[in-house]
Amino acid sequence: KSFEELNLHESLMKGIYSVGFKKPSKIQTVALPLLLSNPPRNLIGQSQSGTGKTAAFTLNMLSRVDPAMLTPQAICLAPSRELARQIQEVVDKIGQFTEIKTHLAVPGSWSRGKRIDKHILIGTPGTLVDMLSRRGPQAIFDPKQIRVFVLDEADEMIALQGLGDQTVRIKKMLPPGVQNVLFSATFPDEVQRFAESFAPEANKLFL
Ligand code: AMP
Repeated sequence: KSFEELNLHESLMKGIYSVGFKKPSKIQTVALPLLLSNPPRNLIGQSQSGTGKTAAFTLNMLSRVDPAMLTPQAICLAPSRELARQIQEVVDKIGQFTEIKTHLAVPGSWSRGKRIDKHILIGTPGTLVDMLSRRGPQAIFDPKQIRVFVLDEADEMIALQGLGDQTVRIKKMLPPGVQNVLFSATFPDEVQRFAESFAPEANKLFL
């Protein structure tokens, strides 16, 4: 399998080559066709770090946002600010030949009354809940424009007090038809249950 076979946008192919990827990793080979299929389907994937999952969900987010719409259309949540920042770096690098911009949604990254005109939000659940608590003319962004919702390291997220609940609160504000994508290294019962409700009828990927 090659990246060429995935029908990725030309600008994304340039991004992939510029970061030095020659061919898709194992998880990318399996996950990308599932993630990129239309109509979009939910995905639950098991994956350790080091497997290339970040680039997989990054390519999906970058493929699904419309750069002409200056409003967030994809959200990616991670259990820590540090991980969110690392994901942002990957998205920015692979997306460097597109017009797509990212916003790191961590505490202190947004201000009241100022709308976010970036395409992809990457952050931690608490900050997204805070942002979304401002409604109407005060809104920081319109959750109804979100098309893709990615949860990375779901097991860590659930282990950390409150993060799972906050993720559920965010999900309730998104429109029906959002593509929900969840990755986790482990799937104990609690994580399994969470995953099934987060991403109903998902394609499943256990490598
Ligand atoms: P991750 O599993 O997302 O934490 O990524 C692990 C590492 O693999 C990162 O350093 C990536 O830059 C690298 N990587 C991801 N995909 C590929 C690929 N297709 N070819 C070579 N390296 C890759």
